[in-house]
Amino acid sequence: MPVDLHTHSSCSDGSDSPEELIANAAAAGATTIALTDHDNLNGIDRARAAAGAHGIELIPGTELSVRWERGAMHLLVYFLEPATGPLQDRLAQLQDGRADRNLRVVRALQDLGIDITYDEVEREAQGQGIGRPHIAAVLMAKGVVPDIAAAFDAYLAKGRPAYQERYRLDFVEAVELARASEAVPVIAHPHTIGVSADDYGAALRYGASIGVMGIEAHYSEYSPDTRAALAALADDLGVVATGGSDYHGTYKPDIDLVVGRGDLAVPEAVVDRLAEAQRTLE
Ligand code: AMP
Ligand code: ZN
Ligand code: FE
Ligand code: FE
Repeated sequence: MPVDLHTHSSCSDGSDSPEELIANAAAAGATTIALTDHDNLNGIDRARAAAGAHGIELIPGTELSVRWERGAMHLLVYFLEPATGPLQDRLAQLQDGRADRNLRVVRALQDLGIDITYDEVEREAQGQGIGRPHIAAVLMAKGVVPDIAAAFDAYLAKGRPAYQERYRLDFVEAVELARASEAVPVIAHPHTIGVSADDYGAALRYGASIGVMGIEAHYSEYSPDTRAALAALADDLGVVATGGSDYHGTYKPDIDLVVGRGDLAVPEAVVDRLAEAQRTLE
């Protein structure tokens, strides 16, 4: 009973429209899909309508990049409805910060002597939810780099010459806002949060203590051992071990919906556990 709780559509930096994403999920046999576009809920209504037509359950969500003293902390927020609310009302500010950052990245690339314009990036993204993968795709189309990964390695990743910071919510604040919106905050792909394997326990325990309700254990890019270790840690902390592919369509060409790199299997029971967690917030 395949489920996938981490996906991106063309409303952020995925290549599938919400309808295409749901059709592809149905073709993969999925029963539940969470749409988790970065910083916005723009695709939720369309995805939900398509999911209804395909007999799939749609969990509305988003993925936020939050301020945290160490690495890149991403927070998945589940059951966040496209409506007004404490977290929803902050999303416009995050989108403004993203737009401002995107302009600075393009300017930095221009300063490095690269022929790229913001118009080209907007055209690549079809005008919405613009992110670094779109900039990477323009660099690839122009022959500046061979592929998207190379664009990050050479220019766009943190520490590379065109990297620019953007406005983020603080980790604690983001968790509080999510819960106040009756939505379930989950630490995404915890291997990017900037702690060594030995320190995971402490970092994730801290997360649980401030209200994080899940840890993404079943992630495409993790080995079976890592998934099992993270799931055991989630159990110890009394939070849900969630999972998903982080599908982006052609922007992450080696990741498929539902199965990730081929070996991903997110337990269907995760869906009920997340729903139970959500009910405690009502
Ligand atoms: P942004 O939200 O615009 O800062 O872009 C973040 C997105 O870029 C992530 O969700 C990934 O899809 C993608 N990304 C980040 N780092 C890399 C990388 N090293 N290689 C390929 N894609 C990446
Ligand atoms: Zn992304
Ligand atoms: Fe992420
Ligand atoms: Fe993601």
